[in-house]
Amino acid sequence: ANRQPLPAFDGKGVLSDGTSIPLYANVGDGKSAEKAAGLSAEGVGLLRTEFGFLGNDSEPSVETQAETYKSVFDAFPGQHIVVRTLDAGADKPLPFLNVKEEENPALGVRGFRTDWTVPGVLNRQLEAINKAAEGSEADIWVMAPMISTTSEARTFSKMLDEAGIQTKGVMVETPAAAVNAEAILGEVDFVSIGTNDLTQYTMAADRLLGDLAHLNNPWQPAVLKMIKLTVEGAQRASVLHGIKKYVSVCGEAAADPALAVVLVGLGVDTLSMNAGAIAAVSAVLKTVTKEKAQQIAVKALSQISSAEAKTAAREELPILD
Ligand code: PEP
Ligand code: MG
Repeated sequence: ANRQPLPAFDGKGVLSDGTSIPLYANVGDGKSAEKAAGLSAEGVGLLRTEFGFLGNDSEPSVETQAETYKSVFDAFPGQHIVVRTLDAGADKPLPFLNVKEEENPALGVRGFRTDWTVPGVLNRQLEAINKAAEGSEADIWVMAPMISTTSEARTFSKMLDEAGIQTKGVMVETPAAAVNAEAILGEVDFVSIGTNDLTQYTMAADRLLGDLAHLNNPWQPAVLKMIKLTVEGAQRASVLHGIKKYVSVCGEAAADPALAVVLVGLGVDTLSMNAGAIAAVSAVLKTVTKEKAQQIAVKALSQISSAEAKTAAREELPILD
């Protein structure tokens, strides 16, 4: 109760042994990006592009989209920015994507799966990203949401090649993508784990149902194992292809300081979260070495429930007492 306030974030995510863990922000538009830059985020790990267009009945023009993206890029000159292509579905509707009503929207036509609902939307979005990037110094990476197969990753990768976009990635939000991370990373350069969806699909628990909060919890050892599988797949792909394949986490899990330590211990390279969480996460990361984080991850993974995994990790982190 009389705990000292956590120190302000001083601009770099780093462990006590000097290992760098860049801390990025999740943003939706230029305004949230400016706010995140004010909180010293090292870049943007997730730009939820659909946020800018949720009220739109018709597809925003390439120019309108480019303006929106540029306002985000301008908030982080020279820094790392990960743009996610439109992530909509029957539960997060973008009327211009023509997604029909569905009984189970979470299992329906959403994310990258909307690519075929209106031909060309994704190509025009890539064009807008390129247009926004003209003259920008930001280091722009582009990824697709809701990927389940290596073939989808290949299709997306080809689209980015055709658009001339260099750094290509996909989100790991389905158990299928986690299990297949090695093959998927034969097609793209990086993955970003969306723990919000990965948790709901691993646990078969709707992320919108409060009654299932105990299942829909990223501390669930099964979810942690999915993340471990993803990192191991990326490590094998890095060796196989002779180039580092990056793994980020951009779901809410990264904003939980103790869980951030576990993610780092599992081998995740970077974390992205709501900017308000960065100071607390950085303060806790500063107290552990990579080796200690690995030990905490092993301990958390061997528990039988989310509650026990969380307690096991927090016990090792006196700063959180
Ligand atoms: C996620 O699923 O963890 C994620 C970051 O994407 P969203 O929350 O936008 O579905
Ligand atoms: Mg998601």
